[in-house]
Amino acid sequence: MDTDTDHIEKNPHNICIWKPKEECGDCSLCNEIHCEMHRSDTLMFGGSAMLFFIPAIGGMILGGMGLWLIGYFVYWLVFFELWENRVLCSHCPFYAEDGGQGHTLHCYANYGLYKTWPYNPKPMSRSHQIQFIIALIIFAGYPIPFLVLGNQLLFLGFTIIGIGTWMTVLKLKICPRCLNFSCPLNSVPKEIVDAFLRRNPVMREAWEECGYELG
Ligand code: SF4
Ligand code: SF4
Repeated sequence: MDTDTDHIEKNPHNICIWKPKEECGDCSLCNEIHCEMHRSDTLMFGGSAMLFFIPAIGGMILGGMGLWLIGYFVYWLVFFELWENRVLCSHCPFYAEDGGQGHTLHCYANYGLYKTWPYNPKPMSRSHQIQFIIALIIFAGYPIPFLVLGNQLLFLGFTIIGIGTWMTVLKLKICPRCLNFSCPLNSVPKEIVDAFLRRNPVMREAWEECGYELG
């Protein structure tokens, strides 16, 4: 049985999603946002991403550009473990489990990734938001020049359609419920964000220090 000390060690920032479910009381925000990890979200997120990975990677190989995939996979490592991990995920309540650094993520989108940085309860800064958009454009766009150079126009078309489908799934199904409220793609309504912050004093204080005002 977990003691209070165990709970503090597992959840030093006192984030509600990492508390026992009985402590949610009458809060019904879980109907509006992703307080819990659901496999269906992982399948939707990962499955739609495959729609561009498969034609992009297949087209690069068929066009004789397969060696450039090494650069792409190195970029994946940098993107997931250093860049996105820092500028996006380290601000997310899912990252706060066990205080952040040194353990793996348990969220629907990046499950199992190593948490390279400490959890940061503050919202993403403007610099982090811009860096995330740049990192995402490189992530999606890297294969495109190689598909053109390899003359794989059919695969290029499928890749562009795949990117569009992935972004549409993201914007319609994930971003309106995502807990990383300061992400530039997030579209959770302000009243829901405020209600979540009222339940999470450490985050609320960090957000207010950065100038955020609750409604
Ligand atoms: S917002 Fe927090 S307290 Fe409310 S249902 Fe979700 S996990 Fe529970
Ligand atoms: S839910 Fe999204 S922002 Fe939050 S840790 Fe997972 S991948 Fe990062």
